[in-house]
Amino acid sequence: MDIRSEFPALDRTVYGRPLVYFDNAATAQRPRAVLEIQQRLSVEANANVHRAIHYLSGEATAAYEAGREAVRAFINAPARENVVLTSGTTASINLVATCFCQRFVREGDSILLSEAEHHSNLVPWQLACQRHGATLEVLPVDEAGELSVAELDRRLANAQGRIKLLAVAHVSNILGVVNPVEDIVRTAHRHNVPVLLDGAQGIVHARVDVQALDCDFYVFSGHKIYAPTGTGVLYGKREWLEQMPPYMGGGEMIESVSFQQSTWAPLPLKFEAGTPNFVAAACLAPALDCARTMAEDPALQDTQRAMRDYLLAELPKIEGLRLYGTPRESDRKIPLFSFTVEGAFPADLAQILDKMGFAVRSGHMCAEPLLRRYGQTSMVRVSLAPYNTLAECEAFVQALRRAVNMLR
Ligand code: PMP
Repeated sequence: MDIRSEFPALDRTVYGRPLVYFDNAATAQRPRAVLEIQQRLSVEANANVHRAIHYLSGEATAAYEAGREAVRAFINAPARENVVLTSGTTASINLVATCFCQRFVREGDSILLSEAEHHSNLVPWQLACQRHGATLEVLPVDEAGELSVAELDRRLANAQGRIKLLAVAHVSNILGVVNPVEDIVRTAHRHNVPVLLDGAQGIVHARVDVQALDCDFYVFSGHKIYAPTGTGVLYGKREWLEQMPPYMGGGEMIESVSFQQSTWAPLPLKFEAGTPNFVAAACLAPALDCARTMAEDPALQDTQRAMRDYLLAELPKIEGLRLYGTPRESDRKIPLFSFTVEGAFPADLAQILDKMGFAVRSGHMCAEPLLRRYGQTSMVRVSLAPYNTLAECEAFVQALRRAVNMLR
């Protein structure tokens, strides 16, 4: 499959050099099928959804709901009622943190997080805890970036019911380690603690079946899985979504309104106040199709593994380079590499690499507590997609060696 020809952005040059896009964990490029439906709906079916009787509104609503159905099928959710469309992972987590905590968290309770969470899976819980007199508790990761399920079990056993929810990344955006989410959910449930999985990175690299996982909430962003920005998903078990109060009030989320009292629309619309980004949500259907096609292509999967194994072997050969997120089995590592190099500031490395045509990320990457755990304030991150090539990885290692030499 000539996958690169499906992603027109990959053809561009920067500073007169071919672009090598290695910042896929921040946002992925979009395939032609997504760009086409985005354009077509904007031109032909621009109308508000779920409202008017007229033809265009019907088309827009059908496209929006087709996006939801594509998500439902992709993660094997039981029904459309379990799939709330949001503007992204951040919005999904804020929704759960606000509404779940309002209903279920009281003074003296806690929310348990891992040490490796993106700020999006930390700050919303912090805010909610402050509102309800609750505290955040933190499950550490070891030097390799791994969580201990035995430690989780101990923590929950000793918590005497005060931990009301566990929120943990499926895959950390710094470590790239696939957490043992099946074991984590099973262990938490043994202690009657519901689990939210932050799937912003996990949905892109692992097959997700929310019913098999049995997680209570699973959230992700469309833009990291080839859809436009401004789309996100909140999967929730019905029992929780039914019991949680609404998040935002407004149009679409009500059943009836009076000045005295309002009642709420059935799921999932109860959590979808206001006019959604329906064009982007509709794009989830071709985006997830594309993700599935790439995941099922044996040659692309071989290349993904080859790129990961190549970088896992070659990066540590660079003198002074320290890699973060090194699980014992390499198959639990997604092709995402965060590192520091002694004597070279991450921002300087990223800037030199940029001038050579390589788009990589540098900074705290929205996980300050995790960086602090490793004694760092900044790192460089390289994150690959199935449209990247081994030749790009080889060129990258050479370029990185040159950049490091310039700075030392
Ligand atoms: N969680 C993780 C693990 C992420 O990687 C990201 C994006 N970097 C987010 C949450 C936030 O996603 P968004 O900005 O799309 O809401």
